[in-house]
Amino acid sequence: MRLVMKFGGTSLEDGEKIKNAAKIVKSYLDGNEVIVVCSAMAGVTDKLFSLVDKASKGRVRDVEILLKEISEKHLIALSEGIEDNAVRDEVRRMSEELIEELKRAVTSILYLREATPRSRDYVVSFGERLSTRIMWGALTDIGVNCKYLDGGDAGIVTDSNFGEACPLMEITKLEVKRRVGSLIDKGVTPVITGYIAVNEEGVITTLGRGGSDYTATILGQCLEADEVWLWSDVDGLMTADPKIVKNSHVLSTISFNEAIEMAIFGAKGLHPRALEPAMKADIKVRIKNTFNPSAPGTLVISKPEKSGAVVKAVLLVKDVAMLSIRGASMVGKPGTVAKILETLAKEKINVMMISQSVSESSVSLVIKRNALSRALSKIETALLGSGLVEDIESEDDVSVVAVVGEGMKGTPGVASKVFGAVAKRGINIRMIAQGSSELNISFVVKEEDGPEAVRAIHEEYGL
Ligand code: ASP
Ligand code: MG
Repeated sequence: MRLVMKFGGTSLEDGEKIKNAAKIVKSYLDGNEVIVVCSAMAGVTDKLFSLVDKASKGRVRDVEILLKEISEKHLIALSEGIEDNAVRDEVRRMSEELIEELKRAVTSILYLREATPRSRDYVVSFGERLSTRIMWGALTDIGVNCKYLDGGDAGIVTDSNFGEACPLMEITKLEVKRRVGSLIDKGVTPVITGYIAVNEEGVITTLGRGGSDYTATILGQCLEADEVWLWSDVDGLMTADPKIVKNSHVLSTISFNEAIEMAIFGAKGLHPRALEPAMKADIKVRIKNTFNPSAPGTLVISKPEKSGAVVKAVLLVKDVAMLSIRGASMVGKPGTVAKILETLAKEKINVMMISQSVSESSVSLVIKRNALSRALSKIETALLGSGLVEDIESEDDVSVVAVVGEGMKGTPGVASKVFGAVAKRGINIRMIAQGSSELNISFVVKEEDGPEAVRAIHEEYGL
């Protein structure tokens, strides 16, 4: 089989874990072709973002501390993860070179006191560039014939939407086949940076946070892989957060649509757009745990056998806020909602849920909590003066409960069962939305009621 295996940051957290990941790769090489994709070591991407932030504020001392932490983390990992002296020296030399390059980039941001999306992508790319070289060393160490490639060298070309770039699939397909395909044909295992790519001018771009999953499925599609395996530190996608529901469990099989829905609602270990390429090319995706590799994990496929389960998972989305916009004059006036959404879109504020009463006199929206004050001030400026809107209210102590399952489609009574279960616990529901795809029902409750609402539904459906 041809397998793309992506290792998440927690699976590459230190030298020992990188060794473990390398052993896992090796154990599958007999009879399979494996393409390895690496995330940055755990915590490194956050540190790199913070590095850019501090540098653009001219905080020299913070920058120095962060650079030292980043550099030490990788130098320690490579000395623990690679035993052979020559290989270790080679990786150390490459890493030190990269760290020097990183320092130069950060120094220029410090001088300019300005970071552009383009320079930010350049700086954060070092996380994957460093981890991938250490993984290459660990694999070489145990006798795997492999070659490391940065996303761009592997042929992944994107548009220039820095920070959230989109792959240009036609050229990417051609290039990946040419560059990575030829390595595989020679029996070489490619070890590729996740998350980063290049635009058409060869400038480094990134695919958005958690983008290594996306790299893996893009490569899977281009190379016509049989399966894409996303290795992380969880056994798979769960029916609910085990911290909330004690008897929650791993889902053995779910559909692409369900998995996308779960990813959108923040299920751990999945990039929302990552499943698109796999879905298009009908490539199976497995979510597996490097610390428990024999566990079957979760299999994501287009058509799981009918399991009979209507509801598959219940998710709690925290750190959100609800906005309610009311006005009698909104009734029958086309374009009010458009105006609200446009105002938010211009501010790059993502709307997670929207619902409008049939009377059209009120619209409720859910957004990320940290965007609330920006959203309020922009909507006030754009709409309060217009006479269309009379009143804007917001609540920042709410959570969204999302109930996901493809079996809800065409099954009557799901809503009543869900809301009945919640009502029985005396929990008040503030807002409801169901997409016409009927893949999920989401509703807003007070933050303190969130976990109990999740438990109520999990129990009601006997998940
Ligand atoms: N290192 C990147 C991040 O933390 C990409 C990834 O881990 O998938 O967002
Ligand atoms: Mg990560």
